[in-house]
Amino acid sequence: MKQQKSRRPRSTIRRVFQVFAGLVLLMLIGLVALFASVFIGNRQLEDGAVLNGHGVTVNDGYVAVFLLPTGEGKFALIDCGNDPEAHALKAVLAQKGATEAAVEAIFLTHGHPDHIAGCNAFPKAVVYGFAEDAKMAKGEEASQSPMGRLVGKQKAKTVEIKNRIEDGSEIQVGDLSVRAYRVPGHTQGSGVYLARGVLYLGDTLKSKPDGTLADAPWMFSDNLTQNDASLKGLAERLDREQADVKILALSHTGALEGIGPLKTFVEQHSL
Ligand SMILES: [Zn+2]
Repeated sequence: MKQQKSRRPRSTIRRVFQVFAGLVLLMLIGLVALFASVFIGNRQLEDGAVLNGHGVTVNDGYVAVFLLPTGEGKFALIDCGNDPEAHALKAVLAQKGATEAAVEAIFLTHGHPDHIAGCNAFPKAVVYGFAEDAKMAKGEEASQSPMGRLVGKQKAKTVEIKNRIEDGSEIQVGDLSVRAYRVPGHTQGSGVYLARGVLYLGDTLKSKPDGTLADAPWMFSDNLTQNDASLKGLAERLDREQADVKILALSHTGALEGIGPLKTFVEQHSL
């Protein structure tokens, strides 16, 4: 009887270990799948690429920031990157004989930390963004994406969006004109900007090596169905406005020529 009693705990321990090992294996498979969905099968970002003879691509690790001249040695940025010290941006500014004081405006595509962390390194810059992402960018609300729900509010990488943009507004910074469109889906305050023939799409889409577009990873997006509907609306607006779109710029993947890839994506993802 005594021997039988002592076997039960051992089999229980074995069962617990097997369940634990199974869970660890599942987590590893999940992490590999997540890594693959984010980093594999993408068109590569090209550091230093000048878009339509104007916007300079600055790689800040796995995310791009775009530096746009506004005249008289001043600049605007599309996003401000993942590095709170903005080393990559400051190096490119130094090559142009400028400092962080030359950045007079930053247009945020959305409030995720890898797009807003460097903003406070530019003390003279007016930060523009859509109101719906302001609390998330300030660290007061968590992102509504699956990953955001998992990790909670942003703590270290935050910024205050002081200048809230209206959908469809045109903002003049020096000699640069920026048209802003709200495209909720990746986040509720996601914005797309059209400046000098380049449509800066943020994380609303990613580009693939064959020149087509795909949705951003679902893990980091609030609602892909809403995102696709917003992009359909955007393509229709750009058509109505006869917007001259020469380049599509994405934040984590390489740029594409013309508005064609966006129209094709919209046709294939219309409900
Ligand atoms: Zn994002």
